[in-house]
Amino acid sequence: MRSEMTPGGLFIGGVWREPNTTFEVLDPATGRAVARVADATARDALQALDAASDAQPSWAATAPRARAEILRRAFDLMTERAEPLARLATSELGRPLAESRAEVAYAADFLRWFSEQAVRVGGEYRTAPSGDYRIVTSRGPVGPCYLITPWNFPLAMVTRKVAPALAAGCTMVLKPAEATPLTALALAELLAEAGLPDGVLNVVPTMAPAEVTEALLGDGRLRKLSFTGSTEVGRRLLAQSAAGILRTSMELGGNAPFLVFDDADIDDAVQGAVVAKMRNSGQSCVAANRFIVHEAVAEEFTGALHERLAAVEVGRDVGPLIDRDALERVDGLVIDAKQRGAVVRLGGAPQPGPGWFYPPTLLIGVPDDAAIARQEIFGPVAAIATYPDESSMVTAANATPAGLVAYLFSRDLGRALRVGEALEAGMVGINRGLVSNAAAPFGGVKQSGLGREGGIEGIDEYLEVKYLAVQ
Ligand code: NAD
Repeated sequence: MRSEMTPGGLFIGGVWREPNTTFEVLDPATGRAVARVADATARDALQALDAASDAQPSWAATAPRARAEILRRAFDLMTERAEPLARLATSELGRPLAESRAEVAYAADFLRWFSEQAVRVGGEYRTAPSGDYRIVTSRGPVGPCYLITPWNFPLAMVTRKVAPALAAGCTMVLKPAEATPLTALALAELLAEAGLPDGVLNVVPTMAPAEVTEALLGDGRLRKLSFTGSTEVGRRLLAQSAAGILRTSMELGGNAPFLVFDDADIDDAVQGAVVAKMRNSGQSCVAANRFIVHEAVAEEFTGALHERLAAVEVGRDVGPLIDRDALERVDGLVIDAKQRGAVVRLGGAPQPGPGWFYPPTLLIGVPDDAAIARQEIFGPVAAIATYPDESSMVTAANATPAGLVAYLFSRDLGRALRVGEALEAGMVGINRGLVSNAAAPFGGVKQSGLGREGGIEGIDEYLEVKYLAVQ
């Protein structure tokens, strides 16, 4: 049993190797298996690192233009195959096809953007302040990288790492999330078809992420870890990376505040709220987590959001949660909020199976001490709390160890800029509910991570500066 677009085996050194064991991938919309994929052991992962290390010198020496053209061909192939890739993503995530199509377009954009950036890696030529020699800097690939990705955007989170790493001249071992390895495997095949040399990208899905990771992080040939996932796992990986003094990039969890001021355009705010809350059924690190609404517009905003969410059809407009644990976790957060005084205006209980569906839910009067206000919800639940003024809204927004993204809605430009500067977040959406773009630097502050992906900055994560002192 396997999907027609997903090759069997582990992708190591440009060939599909038969594994000793395999594991099932389930469709969360039905709970049924859709494919079996190879299950890598720590030994397999080290063989993947052998391949990446062997390929590193020649890939680093490959002309930037040649690397760029491979990425561009991969973009063209992904665009041509957008429909089957979207179907594949839907089969492993269970979500509506329209959302998977949007992800494929976003994922492809990283290939295009970094094909354009591959030829723009520069250095500097300066005269030393003493005037008697030159300071010459260049930037080259960091070396073999280990990339770990989450399940929630199984293709885009992969291209957001793979594309800049390839552009920079790095080779890599990719470990996709065990729930969603299919699109990552399809990408390996697509890149090979685009002309990527053997060994540059190796893919090792596994049901034993901790063992595989320990083996790779303990190997002195590895130079860099790039991780996207939960803050909890990220913290552990940072500690493990200390032994090898690895370069690290960490894209971790968020707890996004969504501020609606009394001077906001309420239609725009509701539109932004639906996008920021419901995309991927709320299973996004940039999902609006806490609606912080000025009390003067609270009823108007809540009423309009209620109307929009009530019209969302489960299954057609929003997909399921990833698994039963996720469903139980979201349900537990809603129950806790109710016990602490929040009122359910819409939804509020899981849907009967098959699949792990939770309906769009609206909670009002959510107290600050409710778990739902402090943790990432990762589900389609909008939790609204009201505040009397700008300063209390900003204080509430910043009262979290996370700092990935924040959203604010206001028609007052001065306020938008003032609050935008005061919010402790790596990204701020001003009068819009979507910030993700391959051309923009994505990343967080505080416990949401280290480094940036995408934008002009994204390639820097894979480059090391070398300085030549020239007499
Ligand atoms: P997760 O941390 O459970 O898993 C992420 C990846 O880490 C998976 O590939 C998993 O197999 C691997 N992993 C788990 N335990 C490991 C271990 N001990 N050693 C090595 N690898 C291990 O997260 P998830 O549930 O897949 O994803 C959801 C989380 O990811 C949320 O917190 C979300 O906010 C975050 N996320 C962040 C961003 C961002 O850009 N900041 C983007 C998407 C998701």
